[in-house]
Amino acid sequence: MITRNPCIANINAGYLFPEIAKRRREYAAAHPAAKIISLGVGNTTEPILPHINRGLVEGARQLGTVEGYSGYSDEGLLALRERISAVFYQGELGADEIFISDGAKCDIGRLQLLFGGGTTVAVQDPSYPVYVDGSVLIGAAGPWSGTGYRGITYLPCTVENDYFPDLSLLPKHGLIYFCSPNNPTGAVVTREQLAALVDAAGKTGSIIIFDAAYSEYIRDPKLPKTIFEIGEARTCAIEVNSFSKPAGFTGVRLGWTVVPRDLKYAGGESVNADWSRICGTIFNGASNIAQAGGLAALEPEGLKEIRELSDFYLGNAKLIRSGLQSLNISCVGGDNSPYIWAQFPGRDSWEVFAEILEKCQVVTTPGSGFGPAGQSFIRFSAFGHRAGVEEACGRLGKLSR
Ligand SMILES: *Cc1c(COP(=O)(O)O)cnc(C)c1O
Repeated sequence: MITRNPCIANINAGYLFPEIAKRRREYAAAHPAAKIISLGVGNTTEPILPHINRGLVEGARQLGTVEGYSGYSDEGLLALRERISAVFYQGELGADEIFISDGAKCDIGRLQLLFGGGTTVAVQDPSYPVYVDGSVLIGAAGPWSGTGYRGITYLPCTVENDYFPDLSLLPKHGLIYFCSPNNPTGAVVTREQLAALVDAAGKTGSIIIFDAAYSEYIRDPKLPKTIFEIGEARTCAIEVNSFSKPAGFTGVRLGWTVVPRDLKYAGGESVNADWSRICGTIFNGASNIAQAGGLAALEPEGLKEIRELSDFYLGNAKLIRSGLQSLNISCVGGDNSPYIWAQFPGRDSWEVFAEILEKCQVVTTPGSGFGPAGQSFIRFSAFGHRAGVEEACGRLGKLSR
């Protein structure tokens, strides 16, 4: 019989979110009357706003007409790539440096193909699971050693270093995943920190994959929204971004990846040319309907709706954060990101997860699922209906008893 890809066996204990869903199901089965509220997964909950939604509907309608019909669009609609450059990068990126995708997570997985299984990978610890699990799947990391994956350089982001890692830990010639605003901690890098990261990547001959999926949640104008605010990043960084969290496109599926023309491998070959090749080989482009929605989202009215939707979730975050603070639970995040990272000193994350589920019937995410440094933390997500978030915040008061 055909054998299994050995890399799959190296993934430890299943993916975090299915495990949370399983525990929720088990609790619900044992307590059928419980009204469980989720502040757990990072999935959006609010309807797509009207202008953007009209763009999606119109995109679908056009496909039913001779004039409006379109087939494959490879790297994405030119108009959308130009609009992304204008809105997010002050027009400084060429359309050929922007690749439209079906989402940031999918591209993070595919980007690993550029570097293969021999790459050294560094991640913020804690971090969004796909950076590490994708590295394990391609053979760049694993197996699990008990505290982390072999081959992964974990860069602890802790209370002590204010959630910015010690850059002297960076490996040479590696791939560095960096997410800001961060999922799960909610921390956002300052311009000075980002410049230091880019400088360190240049000096170590590394490439940064910068995940800016939450950039539209940044409200402090001093904080950088893209790594390309640092000029030198053109020679050492790729950026992934998405319409999922700002426009509620988690189920629509639309994102983009920036691969600058100046980005080169050790041998001088163009990373941009290789990425174009990979997209044409195993991807074939994002949905035309989703792209029509994306174009509407980047019109002035759509941008207003993005602001409105992200403001709504930030309002939830504020409620959660002040609820936790009134219980003297120390936490960060939630001001420029939809996540709140709460500390329960000396305790096991899964044990706190179970306590919150049992006492409050609220589902959260155990911090240890995001990496070793997440132990003793819980991530609260601001994605939820307002009434549910208010009810959950009220129930959290039971934790003090
Ligand atoms: C939600 C999320 C994404 C996923 O985006 P999609 O475009 O929906 O695939 C990427 N990165 C981070 C950090 C996320 O939290």
